[in-house]
Order: sequence, then structure tokens, then C-alpha cells
Amino acid sequence: MQATTSVPEKAPEDWAITVNGYNYFHLLSALQKDIRRGKEEQALYWAAQQELYSWEILWDRLAVIAVEDIGFADPDVLPRLRWLRAQYERALEKGNDSHRLFLGRAIQMLCRSPKSRITLDLAWAIYGEIEIDKTRRPIPPYALDHHTPEGSYKVWEEEGPKLVNESGEPNPYSERSKRYQERHRELPYTRPRRRGGKEPKPTPERQADGQSKMSKWVGSSKGEKTRVSGSVLTQTAIRGTKEWAQKNVNCVTGCSNRCRYCYGVLYAEKYGRGSRETWGEMKVRRHLVEKKYPKYRGRVMFPSTHDIPDNPEVKEACFTVLGKLLRAGNSVLIVSKPDPKVIREIIARFGRYRDQIEFMFTITSVDPVKLAFWEPGAPSASERVRALRFAHRAGWRTSVSAEPFLDYNPVPLVDAVSPYVTGEVWIGPMNHIERMGVSEEEQPMFDEVMRNYTPAHLAELYEALKDREKIRFKDSFLRRMEE
Ligand code: SF4
Repeated sequence: MQATTSVPEKAPEDWAITVNGYNYFHLLSALQKDIRRGKEEQALYWAAQQELYSWEILWDRLAVIAVEDIGFADPDVLPRLRWLRAQYERALEKGNDSHRLFLGRAIQMLCRSPKSRITLDLAWAIYGEIEIDKTRRPIPPYALDHHTPEGSYKVWEEEGPKLVNESGEPNPYSERSKRYQERHRELPYTRPRRRGGKEPKPTPERQADGQSKMSKWVGSSKGEKTRVSGSVLTQTAIRGTKEWAQKNVNCVTGCSNRCRYCYGVLYAEKYGRGSRETWGEMKVRRHLVEKKYPKYRGRVMFPSTHDIPDNPEVKEACFTVLGKLLRAGNSVLIVSKPDPKVIREIIARFGRYRDQIEFMFTITSVDPVKLAFWEPGAPSASERVRALRFAHRAGWRTSVSAEPFLDYNPVPLVDAVSPYVTGEVWIGPMNHIERMGVSEEEQPMFDEVMRNYTPAHLAELYEALKDREKIRFKDSFLRRMEE
């Protein structure tokens, strides 16, 4: 294997440097150039170096290469690449070295495929016309058939079915199809609906069975609620953070709160981005800060696998991403174990987007000993409640998550926060910790906290809290109560 490109002595930005000292922009560029030239050894070398920085960026780039440099010269390359990526991810999940084979195969395939830049050039030609020349082409007359509000069948008959580049394959269905089309035309005709003419979707009320002797709405604060009924709880299709938002955005690896139950560590370990030991060191993922963010369908939860602490570098990165999300028109749920200073800054800086933001503050206990053990790096309960009161007084939308609730009796916590909540108070058990492994030191505290989550105790809490207007039970609470 030969590596001919020299490693830059001093890279311009530290964040772009891979563990072996390459700048990842250089790696991606070298990778693409060598794939174009069909140099598979070189290309795999760059890919393997890039993989150490981020395999997701690597595979995203391979997809771009497949479209940009191969395109219709081999249209099957893209689905094959997608399949190889899926196999690669599965191998990674299993901690199995065969992921290297799938990457190697993908690089070989791209290097050995015939090349064409016709798709790239088409995109340049058309987007250039729209964005640079600002042209506006007229709709061609042959498009105005009965599929459009003002069109007609006549146009369809004369112009609609015309195919250029027809395969010439014998078509045994043609006559029968024509007969049915003629008969179809005699049926009453419904014009296509104009914009805004959509029928409303059925409301949850219409979908619910309405038969429950014990019933309560649970589910997202955005109206996607599921009815829990009778002694058997209806299975909620929406789980985890999807109960709160449809999309999660993060821009940092690690979290200085160092919660012992953190599920973010599981993902970090799975994707080779960190471990339980290093989780407290927050590393800004620059490419996620620099990228553009679109308007997503549904609400965005930011962040979900780290917090926004009072750490200048991390805070600035988070504010940059938050600003991009808001400017793109997203509705954002800011989830935090809040530091009052940071919340004040958000309120001062993003006041004009107040209507797009809801705060979800995680407050899991009123007991400082439990908090110091389970969330050693996070702000204290009183700081979090101070942040909540401040945001509430300033007129912002607020919710609280007591997931995982750490006190055997979480009702005093619910009482303490409810007056400052405009939305909901969520309650849920601790999940995942057994999967992460409980150390000897953690065992007594773990045994104590697990008593909170026995089905019988959850059922008692459910009875005690179910009639409170703001209370929402996480799906994991309801499932465990049913066990
Ligand atoms: S605040 Fe959230 S992301 Fe941070 S350590 Fe705790 S559970 Fe993990």
C-alpha cells in the first residue's frame, strides 16, 4: 500500500484532524480523486484513514461519488452501495471486522465502474439556469392534461402517453388496458384537489376505542397521543425521544453531566466515538456545526445525547446549531439539565424565536445525594428549578422531564415544578443501565433506585398522578407497569 500525499505539517483547524494526523478534507478529496482514477489501493487507504474520523461522513461521500462520477454509466452502483453500507453498519454493530470487507468492496466497485459525469453536468446546467440566470420556463402544453385542474382528456389522449426511448418489448396488456381506460373515462370525474384542499386526518379521538374504565392520554406534547385503556395498556407506537420530537440533533460527543444511566454512551461506544471513561470530555463535532440544517418535518429535539453546559466552546457550538435550526423555521425542543446562566443566555440571544422554542428541563430528584451519585457533573436540583422559574417568568414555554425519576416518591418533585410548567411533566423509569453493566460501587444505589420501578410501585404512582392535567407517562413507564 502506498501513501503518496504528504500529511500537512500543521493543519489549519484542529477539529478537522484525524487520529493519524490527516486533515479530513484532504482525505475526502484524495479519496474521490483516486476513485476517479481507478486506483483502488490508494482509495481504500484514504477511506480507511477517513473511517477513523467518521465512517458516516465517509459513506455519505461514497454515495456522492457514485452519483457524481459514475451516474448512469452504471445505475446499479447506488443501490449496491446502499446494501454494502447496511452490511457494514450491521458488522460494526456486532463488533465484527467484516465491516472492512464491505468497505473494501464498495471502494473496488466504485473504482472499477465505468464513469460518467452526465448527472453532475445536468444538475449544473439546470440549477445554474434557475439560480444564476433566474429563468422561468413556461409549463409545456402537453402537461396540461386531465391530471391538472385546468387540463383535459383530449390533451392526455393526444400527448400524454408519448414515450421517447421506448424499449420495444412486446406489450400483451396494451389492448386490455386501452379498453379499461375508455370505460374509466365514462365514470364521474373528480378534478385534482387544489392546494390546501386536503381532507383532515382522523383525530386521535376518532381512532381511540373509547371503552376504557381507566383511561388517560399519553404521548407527545405535539398532539400525537395514544389512549391507555383498561387493565391492558394500548401499545404506543411512539417510543423514547420520539414521544417528544420527530428529529434529534446533536453536535457534540460526550457530556460533562456524566449521568451513570446515560444512553448516549451506548451509542458512542457502538459507533466508536467514546466510552464510559471518556464520556465526560465534550468534543465538538465541527462538521455538524458547520453544516446547513433544513426545515425538518415535525419538531426537533436539541440536544439529545449531550447537554449545553456553561463551557464556552461547547456553548458556542450549540448556539450556532440552534440558530441554524431556528432560522430554517424549525420548532425546537431544547432538552437540558439546565444551568441557569446558559438558559439566561438562550433567552437573551434567541428571544425573537421564542414561539419556535420549548424548554424541556430534566429534573430527576430533589435529593442532593442521589443527584450527586447519578448525575455527578450536572447542575443541582435548586439550580435547575431556578432556571425553570426564570424561563417561566420570562414567558417561555416550559416542560419538565423526570426521566428517570430517582426518588421513590416523585410526587413532591412534581408538586415543586408544576407551577412553573406551561406544558407537561413527564415521568419515566431508568432504562438501559443493566445493558451498560453495573459496577460494584454502583450496585447498592442501583438496587435502591430499581425499587422505584417495580410494576406494583409504578401502578401506585400511576393512580396517584393520573388525574393531574400536566402529567404524562413515558411509554417505558407504562410498559414496565404492565410487566
Ligand atoms: S445529560 Fe443526558 S446526555 Fe448528558 S450524561 Fe446525562 S443522560 Fe447523558
